[in-house]
Amino acid sequence: MNQIIEIKNLSFRYEKDYVLESINLSVPKGAFVGIVGPNGSGKSTLMKLLLGLLKIQQGEISIFGEEHNKFKDWHKIGFVSQKANSFNTGFPATVYEVVSSGLTKKIGMFRFLKKSDHLQIQKALDSVGLSDFKNRNIGELSGGQQQRVFIARALVSEPELLILDEPTVGVDAQNVQSFYQMLDDLNKKLGITLLLVTHDIGTITDKVTHVACLNKHLHFHGNTHEFEELKLNELSDFYGHDVHVLTHNHAHHGGSH
Ligand code: ADP
Repeated sequence: MNQIIEIKNLSFRYEKDYVLESINLSVPKGAFVGIVGPNGSGKSTLMKLLLGLLKIQQGEISIFGEEHNKFKDWHKIGFVSQKANSFNTGFPATVYEVVSSGLTKKIGMFRFLKKSDHLQIQKALDSVGLSDFKNRNIGELSGGQQQRVFIARALVSEPELLILDEPTVGVDAQNVQSFYQMLDDLNKKLGITLLLVTHDIGTITDKVTHVACLNKHLHFHGNTHEFEELKLNELSDFYGHDVHVLTHNHAHHGGSH
């Protein structure tokens, strides 16, 4: 099983008009896929279909080689959504407690944590670079650090696939690059397959291995190198006015694709 996700001929509509049409997309094991598209292009709808929050109407999705409606191993998938709200300084939960709550999926609520659970929590905190913050109240952390806490919370159940929906909303501009570097480490060092949804193509292209451009249809899907060969005017057609300057640093790649 080399494809973690395989989407075939997927179409979806809430009402009369389709919001997704004939989507074909695979996510290979170990990939770091960026799904980009302007607002209203169907990104959230696609994620909801993947996570089983919306019912598939037309087409097929298989996950870890299994038909979507038979798939049961949801613990293999971690999901981190856009951070909806910031916590206030007085929010009564420590970083450690928030991360440990990610284990309830596996062990149930109100059970005592075993030594192995504590090790797992510590490992997750290390992976996002927050070990030194474990006893802080989550409200004392910056937006970017809070988002790392939620990633650690998703990591404690040892997912093989992590889906991130606009994770850098609320992360300060100067911390965005180190945030992406952390995601890169999760991908390369821990081997976690990443699916990152964003409206911002500019900041992701030097980290992801594949790019998918969605706007009801899948306009482009390929590796980062192929994506960079797309002409800027093709991207403008796709994005309307919303094209950012690509920030890819060519020195990183060395023709490895
Ligand atoms: P994105 O995540 O790219 O911003 P969405 O998947 O949220 O896009 O939305 C795609 C389209 O579907 C938009 O036109 C949106 O208005 C519409 N839509 C989203 N959710 C609903 C809903 N629950 N009912 C009806 N239309 C919806």
